[in-house]
Amino acid sequence: MSEETPTPGVWDSPRRILVILAHPDDPEFFCGATLAHWAAAGHEVIYYLLTCGDKGFNDSTPADMTPDALCAIRHREQQAAASVIGAKVVHWLERPDGYLVPDIELRREVVRMIRKIKPDVLVTCDPQNLFATYGLNHPDHRAAGQVVLDAVFPAAGNKEYFPELIREGLEPHMPSEVWVSLTSQPNTVMDVTAAWPTKLQALLQHVTQIGDVEKFKARMTTRHTEDSTDENPRFEERFRVIKYT
Ligand SMILES: [Zn+2]
Repeated sequence: MSEETPTPGVWDSPRRILVILAHPDDPEFFCGATLAHWAAAGHEVIYYLLTCGDKGFNDSTPADMTPDALCAIRHREQQAAASVIGAKVVHWLERPDGYLVPDIELRREVVRMIRKIKPDVLVTCDPQNLFATYGLNHPDHRAAGQVVLDAVFPAAGNKEYFPELIREGLEPHMPSEVWVSLTSQPNTVMDVTAAWPTKLQALLQHVTQIGDVEKFKARMTTRHTEDSTDENPRFEERFRVIKYT
């Protein structure tokens, strides 16, 4: 009898899932339906955002908005979106938006959070995705993906890296799976049709970012799969999954 291949993203016991990305709204845009699906299945979803998106100004931003005020609003929007998804906690690093660099100091912060939370599954985005469908991918997205992958390997599980964290009581920890979203090199496709309305509802909490609600909803509906029909709509989210078990 051949060994049964486990279905990706289906686990037989509750998993702790840590999502590390650059901005508020990134978790929902990049992989919100998958996260909602996991939370509904009883897994613990925790966010760690490296900036508060304080430069997220756009055509609909009021003229008297300041970066500090926007930062505060985006904290509230992200908390609301996380609640819709079913994520338990949102941690923030509060680095300046737009200036993320995957340097050793930032890697230490990410390793610190991995060792503190001890996730079974880590979610981030693809640092190699330069040309997104809408133009250029944001440099913070690439920096976040790079620093998270560099933190996973070889640092998080190796006591020789950042020994000062061990002196803080944070022992080495290695997640068993890393899920890389927003990738042009996927090896795993999740059918997220059932959770798509939850993703949309979560995205609608990011009021400062989505502009006209009806136009936004219409745009999101066009993100269906090629074989999707009006009777049987289908939506997918794609990942590069790396397993360490
Ligand atoms: Zn972003």
